[in-house]
Amino acid sequence: MTALLEVDDLTVAYGKIEAVKGISFTVQEGEVVTLIGTNGAGKTTTLRTLSGLIKPSCGNVIFNGKTLGKYRADEIVSLGLAHSPEGRHIFPRMTIEDNLRLGAYLRKDTEGINKDIQHACDLFPILGERKKQAAGTLSGGEQQMLAMGRALMSQPKLLMLDEPSMGLSPIMMQKIMQTIRELKAEGTTILLVEQNAQAALSLADQGHVMEIGNIVLSGTGQDLLTDESVRKAYLGED
Ligand code: ATP
Repeated sequence: MTALLEVDDLTVAYGKIEAVKGISFTVQEGEVVTLIGTNGAGKTTTLRTLSGLIKPSCGNVIFNGKTLGKYRADEIVSLGLAHSPEGRHIFPRMTIEDNLRLGAYLRKDTEGINKDIQHACDLFPILGERKKQAAGTLSGGEQQMLAMGRALMSQPKLLMLDEPSMGLSPIMMQKIMQTIRELKAEGTTILLVEQNAQAALSLADQGHVMEIGNIVLSGTGQDLLTDESVRKAYLGED
């Protein structure tokens, strides 16, 4: 089966420092794939490179049959790759609804856009209840929901989520993880970067452990959850 995303020997440097050192992995359609690892492992850099925000120094990325190196970030969105970034980056003075509409800026099908706004509000009812309010009035966790809803508005073939649970209360985190499960059940393909290894691995089909720019271990989510080295290093066990 041809992978939806194929990352081959991707290397990314900031000046002389290589943050990603020749990583390779694939994402098949319908899968949830997670990259886990400690701070500075290169996870965010990987997602930003796939989005076209950073140019790799080496390697090849094929998404839905197209070599991404040739495309600008906005073109990559139109190819079907959406990115919900770390730190959310919502527009606080705009309404929640307008933030969602921004995610559909490449689309012209008004009816479809309205339907997808409704879908985002079904996934995250708080967004519907407060549609006309400024997005800056949402709590951190709710802003995370808005960022995810906005990324979905481009009807992506692949949704990349960077640390959706960061800074959230346990209840909010559970809600976000539950929504990722729902999206998966709907057939959405997801590349999930998480520091919360337990949560990410328990819903992922495939996982990759990153350490200082390398993938050091790969397996199914279940395999990695039961792997002794992963349990010690990332799941807080002795
Ligand atoms: P975190 O979970 O803390 O975001 P991460 O695994 O996502 O970690 P990256 O943010 O990709 O890691 O960072 C990888 C390495 O690249 C780190 O050493 C980081 O300091 C460095 N780095 C990231 N952004 C830049 C930048 N703009 N300029 C220079 N170095 C950077």
